[in-house]
Amino acid sequence: THSPDMEANIVVLGTESVGKSALTVRLLTRRFIGEYGDIESIYSHSFILDGREVTLNIWDAPYSETPLFEKKVRWADGYVLIYSICDRASFNSVSRLVHTIKSTKDCPGADKTPIVIVGNKRDLHHRRTVLSEEGRLLALNADCHFYEVSAAENYHSVLMVFHGLVDRMKDAKPTA
Ligand code: GDP
Ligand code: MG
Repeated sequence: THSPDMEANIVVLGTESVGKSALTVRLLTRRFIGEYGDIESIYSHSFILDGREVTLNIWDAPYSETPLFEKKVRWADGYVLIYSICDRASFNSVSRLVHTIKSTKDCPGADKTPIVIVGNKRDLHHRRTVLSEEGRLLALNADCHFYEVSAAENYHSVLMVFHGLVDRMKDAKPTA
């Protein structure tokens, strides 16, 4: 049977309404549909990157610090932590998430856990309350990649997030 060159589990985490579903659906369909249900799902998505077939299993998950949350953290090989540039509280929760993930993984190399931090809703710059520099600094301190994106208006920016994460995970989980 056919198997991809690389397969990885990704969880998309962040507080309510930051655009977790919008980001995920944009990657899968290239479209922004505006309203998303609250259905929690795992999507499988394949693409070619640098000549290799990559399959991502992406869990679009609501934020809660329940035992189920820990299960997600353990299930995942890579993490997309997303906040809205218009929502300071969502930004604060991302720094908590970084610590939770690193302590839950709690294994050698946890510092190198593939995490990308994403500031979404860049198109709403007139309502911005979190500066780009703040996001960049948080990512620098946590040793993560950082992107500001607009799931609504920029498909390419969304693609960069997942390509960046795959780069980070290369060799993390090769399949035979
Ligand atoms: P989730 O709760 O994190 O899954 O958030 P959703 O993906 O459901 O998005 C919440 C709301 O924010 C919806 O009304 C989306 O249309 C809107 N939204 C998501 N991403 C963007 C974006 O990049 N720009 C703008 N302007 N709105 C967005
Ligand atoms: Mg959602």
